[in-house]
Amino acid sequence: MNKIQQLIKNFISIFYPRSCVACGNALMQNESHFCLSCLMHLPETNYHLMENSPLDYIFMGRVPVEKVSSLLFYKKGNKVQHILHALKYKGNKEVGRFLGELYGRQLLKSPYYRSVDCIIPIPLHPKKMRMRGYNQSEWIAMGLTRSMSIPYFTDVLLRSEFTETQTKKSRFSRWENVKSVFTTVETEKIRDKHVLLCDDVLTTGATMESAITQLLKIEGVRVSVATLACAN
Ligand SMILES: [Zn+2]
Repeated sequence: MNKIQQLIKNFISIFYPRSCVACGNALMQNESHFCLSCLMHLPETNYHLMENSPLDYIFMGRVPVEKVSSLLFYKKGNKVQHILHALKYKGNKEVGRFLGELYGRQLLKSPYYRSVDCIIPIPLHPKKMRMRGYNQSEWIAMGLTRSMSIPYFTDVLLRSEFTETQTKKSRFSRWENVKSVFTTVETEKIRDKHVLLCDDVLTTGATMESAITQLLKIEGVRVSVATLACAN
C-alpha cells in the first residue's frame, strides 16, 4: 500500500471505524477482523488433534466419516455467536475466509487431515443464495484452500430443493426434511479422493449427513468434516 492509499484508508477509518467482529471494539490499524485480545482468546476446541473428540461420535451409526472437527465452541450469547451472525446475516463473508485460512493452518498439523485432497463447501439453496448474495461456506472453503494448498469444488455437490427453516423440528423430521436435498455431478473430479466437507456450524449434523451420504456414493470417496463452530 502506498502512502496516499494509507492516507485515504486512515481518513475513511475516522468516519467508518472498523470494529472487532467478536467484541465490537475499534480495531487498530494492524488488526483485521479481530482485536488482538479476541484473536488470542477464541474458544478453540482443538478437536482436530484428538483421537476421540465428542464430534467423532456425532455420525456414529448414521454414516461413515473419517474425522469430524470444529474450530470454535459456539454458545448462545458468546463471541462465536457474534462471529457467525456477522458471517451469515451481516454480509461479512471475509471473516469466513479469514477463519478458514486460520483453521487450514491448524488442520495441516493434524494427522487426520493430512491426507485430504480437496474441499467441498456445503452448498446453499439457490433461493437462499440469491437472498444472501454469497454462500458463507464457500468463503470458508476459500480460506481453507489458501492455507492448505488444495482445491475446492462448488460444482460437484449441488443443492436443489428448498428446505424450510429447521429450527423448530425434531431430529427425525429434520432428517426427513433434508434427506434428498443434495445431488452430485462431475463426480470424476473427486473419485478416490479424501474430501473435506466444510460448513459454518455443526449442530445435529442432519444436513451434513445428507451431503456425506451423497458423496459416499461416488467410487473411492472418503469424507472428513471441518466446521467453524459446534455447539458447546
Ligand atoms: Zn475483540
